[in-house]
Amino acid sequence: MERVDVAVIGSGQSGMAAAHALRRHGLAPVVLEASDRPVGSWPRYYDSLTLFSPARYSSLPGMPFDGDLDRYPHRDEVITYLLRYADQLDAEIRTRTRVLEVGYRDGAFGLSLEDGGQLEARAVVAATGTFGRPHRPDLPGLEGYVGAVLHVADYRSPELFTGQRVVVVGAGNSAVQIAAEVAERAQVTLAARHRVRLARQRALGRDLHWWLARTGLDTLPIGRFLRTPPTQLVIDDGRYRAAVTAGRPDRRPLFKGISDTKVIWADGATEEVDTILLATGYRPDMGYLAPLGALDAAGHPRHREGISLTHPGLAYVGLEGQRSLSSNSLRGVGRDAARTARHVAAHLASVEQDWEPRRAD
Ligand SMILES: Cc1cc2nc3c(=O)[nH]c(=O)nc-3n(C[C@H](O)[C@H](O)[C@H](O)COP(=O)(O)OP(=O)(O)OC[C@H]3O[C@@H](n4cnc5c(N)ncnc54)[C@H](O)[C@@H]3O)c2cc1C
Repeated sequence: MERVDVAVIGSGQSGMAAAHALRRHGLAPVVLEASDRPVGSWPRYYDSLTLFSPARYSSLPGMPFDGDLDRYPHRDEVITYLLRYADQLDAEIRTRTRVLEVGYRDGAFGLSLEDGGQLEARAVVAATGTFGRPHRPDLPGLEGYVGAVLHVADYRSPELFTGQRVVVVGAGNSAVQIAAEVAERAQVTLAARHRVRLARQRALGRDLHWWLARTGLDTLPIGRFLRTPPTQLVIDDGRYRAAVTAGRPDRRPLFKGISDTKVIWADGATEEVDTILLATGYRPDMGYLAPLGALDAAGHPRHREGISLTHPGLAYVGLEGQRSLSSNSLRGVGRDAARTARHVAAHLASVEQDWEPRRAD
């Protein structure tokens, strides 16, 4: 069986930041990526998406964005940037290589791959992102609803909704951005249990990310308090405040029920709705670690600041609230990757050296 020192699972920004950091410790990670390109989930995000952080604060370690550093790069620029990052990364990336299951025996991890292959690794960095599993909450009556129900993970652009009555469920960034975009073509209500909290993108002439960096808030180790935030701050350059003030979309408390074609609002009024769009978040999709016992009952990794609490040599990069506010963002993932790589390097140095990495025949 092929043996490697470190297997990194996932080749989005988190996996590549991890590989970059591991190389700095002289390690030779092998990066295993299920899809056909090392670019993560960015191609699946909606068409109008621009980063909420300026280019200056959006790069991975070792390769700044080109051009005007104060611009907010579009999704497609991020894709190009990540493909360039992969090209210059001095690490082996194997695309079309999905990890199905990770086991552990005698101090080594056994990785079963979708193509039937097996790999043995002394350390594993799981970097498969926080957005793998769209979360669909139990909404009363939803199972009997005959209109369209979509999760924003499947949303690309507003044309499909032209002329419709649409309810967007959620109060976070995606909910507000998509509701405002669809409201240019449809009648849209933003319905949520929590109120929408808009944060100004710029304050006193500076982007919010300048303030986060300057005050140290971005790096403060408060991640575990952020994993279930009461409500998410929605970053706004003024567009969204103007849109909700104009009632496009309008905002209402979450409906109390749904029946066939209608939603039942909190005041008892009923209304025909064509589409319910769920902007209700995501959960990590790390089922490949379940056989190890590395996950809790909800499927979340059991870890402290990215270091597994269940297996020495297992670590994470890119989890939401892994360490700080910026953990699962382009601007912050490099810092976490450096910590994880330090831990992995120390682990490998501390275990027996009678292991020779061995290539497949
Ligand atoms: C709508 C949206 C907008 C966002 N906007 C911003 C923003 O403006 N700025 C910002 O900094 N962040 C933003 N984020 C947050 C974050 O930066 C992105 O979600 C980013 O894609 C996370 O990168 P990642 O590498 O952790 O995960 P992903 O990009 O999801 O990459 C994970 C990779 O793992 C692979 N994989 C999964 N399972 C397996 C397996 N079993 N075996 C092998 N490979 C596997 C996948 O194919 C994928 O390539 C946004 C997120 C969303 C959802």
